[in-house]
Amino acid sequence: MILTNCAACAAPLAHDAPRCVRCQTRYCNKTCQHDHWRRGHKQMCKKIHRGGNAEQYNADKKYKEAVAVAVEACADDTKGQTCYICTQALHWKTKEGLVRMCACRGTAGFAHVSCLAEQAKILMDEVKENNLGPEALQARWVRWHTCSLCEQQYHGVVKCALGWACWRWIYAMALYMDTGATPGDLREAVTTLEDLVPIARRVFGGAHPLTVSIAGCLRNRESVRGRIKPLPSPR
Ligand SMILES: [Zn+2]
Ligand SMILES: [Zn+2]
Ligand SMILES: [Zn+2]
Ligand SMILES: [Zn+2]
Repeated sequence: MILTNCAACAAPLAHDAPRCVRCQTRYCNKTCQHDHWRRGHKQMCKKIHRGGNAEQYNADKKYKEAVAVAVEACADDTKGQTCYICTQALHWKTKEGLVRMCACRGTAGFAHVSCLAEQAKILMDEVKENNLGPEALQARWVRWHTCSLCEQQYHGVVKCALGWACWRWIYAMALYMDTGATPGDLREAVTTLEDLVPIARRVFGGAHPLTVSIAGCLRNRESVRGRIKPLPSPR
């Protein structure tokens, strides 16, 4: 998935690279793992595990950082405004500030990245729950990068923050593919991801981390879980 490099030496990882048995952080081999453990993974391992393991922890961290950057970049524009979705200035849960980087002008279009992401997520879940098919998915997928008020694409740091929000959603689905899903569920999730690859390529470009990640998810499903050797934590 997105963590395709060794956490210790940053070398690209083999498809079946071993991982930390507790937090799923991936390494080239035992030497890299021991090195990383000594350099501070010992302190971080439990925290990463509590945060949903390496992939989720990384995605959440990147997302939070991207939201903070986007809010900061929009700060002058959003002063004294409220979110058009939740009507508050500060998000009730995350306490994040507002953004606006589309073609909306005046008092229109101010929102929290979390509220925009929640809207997109609900639209995606509806497609899945009601079996609306790939066309509906494609039509609704624009909500991860296009303002529903002015129909213009978000730009710069706001687009980037929503990209990470989208990745967290994709990751949740990929996880679902990986664990306890019935063959029917699995097929559906794979189909959804397959539909997303061309869209992601068109919108974000082939080299964008999001595009690479979705394609990586699809490749990963081929891997047999048993082939991945767990590495016990060093003492
Ligand atoms: Zn390494
Ligand atoms: Zn660990
Ligand atoms: Zn809001
Ligand atoms: Zn707008």
